Amino acid sequence: MTATKEIPYKIYLEEHEMPKQWYNVRADMKNKPAPLLDPKTKKPMSAEELEKVFCKEMVKQELDDTTPYIDIPQEIRDFYKMYRPAPLVRAYCLEEKLQTPAKIYYKHEGNNTSGSHKLNSAIAQAFYAKQQGLKGVTTETGAGQWGTALAMACSYFELDCNVYMVKCSYEQKPHRREVMRTYGATVTPSPSMTTEIGKQINEQFPGTTGSLGCAISEAVESATGKEGYRYTLGSVLSQVLLHQTIVGLETKAALDKYDITPDIVIGCAGGGSNLGGLISPFAGEMLRGEKDYQLIAVEPASCPTLTRGKFAYDYCDTGKVCPLQKMYTLGSGFIPSSTHAGGLRYHGMSSIVSQLYHDGIMEARSVEQTEVFAAAVEFAKVEGILPAPESSHAIKVAIDEALKCKETGEEKTIVFCLTGTGYFDMYAYERFNNGEMGDYIPTEEELAHGFASLPEIK
Ligand SMILES: *Cc1c(COP(=O)(O)O)cnc(C)c1O
Repeated sequence: MTATKEIPYKIYLEEHEMPKQWYNVRADMKNKPAPLLDPKTKKPMSAEELEKVFCKEMVKQELDDTTPYIDIPQEIRDFYKMYRPAPLVRAYCLEEKLQTPAKIYYKHEGNNTSGSHKLNSAIAQAFYAKQQGLKGVTTETGAGQWGTALAMACSYFELDCNVYMVKCSYEQKPHRREVMRTYGATVTPSPSMTTEIGKQINEQFPGTTGSLGCAISEAVESATGKEGYRYTLGSVLSQVLLHQTIVGLETKAALDKYDITPDIVIGCAGGGSNLGGLISPFAGEMLRGEKDYQLIAVEPASCPTLTRGKFAYDYCDTGKVCPLQKMYTLGSGFIPSSTHAGGLRYHGMSSIVSQLYHDGIMEARSVEQTEVFAAAVEFAKVEGILPAPESSHAIKVAIDEALKCKETGEEKTIVFCLTGTGYFDMYAYERFNNGEMGDYIPTEEELAHGFASLPEIK
């Protein structure tokens, strides 16, 4: 490799260059995401109704689709400064390994104990709950990153934190559970016997290892049944995506600092928060007719929400207690195969991401988990970071695109979000290393089963 490169290996922003406002891409969308509906009456939900579930400021942000920039409170900015601005890293070694003329950059969001971008929203949600004078919050966690992030944020603001953790993760990831407990959170495996919905699900599906949708129902039930508690969600909602725009805004600021214009921006998509946060500023430019980019969402072939799902109103949870959201979905009755270890198992998708996809601003691809882990290992070997399986979906497509450039000779600039590190995913890596990992693609029948659970909205 040549010694003199104009562009540093890592582009760090100065502290004062960290964004002071989040960007609300809905303000620039002609087709706004459809309103949230009450799961019982199927009528649009008022702020008042939503405030029974979520804290006030979060409801305000959820319903605001016109204000383009929203101030980040100083308390949140102070916390952000502990691990932000996050570096934008040029993957020189990966480029070298691939022998590609493409330039690859990744935004490294794994630089904190929670190991992912989820802390960006956790700290905001904990702050607003504290500001409202609440005692605590409840939530669900699948892989464990969100629960960890929320536990960290709650301990910072001295709030009680109750986490319902999907049972298979609870068992597979005892260390993740212990990090949450270290930060003072109470962790309950879901489905549990502590809520009505948990009891029902346990009865209906004995021995079930749980799902995110089910854990959400338990967390909501537990929050709404307790004085001084509200529910928090780590993805899918527009307020969460809003907080994650810090990722995209910093990425854009770092690129602008060196006059770099990306051609392709890639994010992995579970509930759509990191992807939406990453692409928002770029999508905004496209929506305003200023620039054009190729924006790509990457999802697992075993949970193909965007690539094979339907754009429809659906429940966000198995227990059907959360508001209905219009989104790409596989149906709340869809439970991905238990052989799937790569994360991103959620049946639905952010309504903002869904609308952008529907309107052709963004494209989507699905990838199989063994090729994702192969990409993860390739990246880990040359870039020195063990990526989270979720993030590795984006790595896989970044590599694919870089290899295309090798064939065509195009010097495209590719940016992706490395959403987190994979130290707590060694069970999945172990299966991959042992050659025991398989690929799973749901059949049309299995998908039809999930679609059958979609509600009818007139
Ligand atoms: C939660 C998580 C994701 C997926 O969530 P999104 O809301 O789709 O961003 C991706 N990567 C990591 C490391 C995560 O923890």
